[in-house]
Amino acid sequence: MRIGEAARQLGVETHVLRHWEDRGVVVPARTPQGYRDYDEETLARLRVVRQCQQAGMSLEQIRLVMHRAADGRDAVIREHQTRVRDQLRTLERTATFLDHVLTCRHSLMSRCPGCSAYAGSG
Ligand SMILES: [Zn+2]
Repeated sequence: MRIGEAARQLGVETHVLRHWEDRGVVVPARTPQGYRDYDEETLARLRVVRQCQQAGMSLEQIRLVMHRAADGRDAVIREHQTRVRDQLRTLERTATFLDHVLTCRHSLMSRCPGCSAYAGSG
């Protein structure tokens, strides 16, 4: 399919796909006439890129992840994995805090052990 259709299916603008191509993240095939040609495999790769971006990864990190033979790939993946797991813990603590806040009856956060625990957990 052409770039317009691929972009539509992904929910991004066409310039985004051209940018990812320029950066060597996902490079589509070309038709004999020179048009970009996105097949299902390429589309699947683009969806992975979009997900990784939403998870806070840079294009350079994503490029490494997408290229199995790239130097330093495992280190980049492990580093980002650590970051994501840290963020997960932060989000879990926040969800727990918000649960608590719904029922907290202390007028000052500093007087509440539950609120204080969250304030000191950062
Ligand atoms: Zn509280």
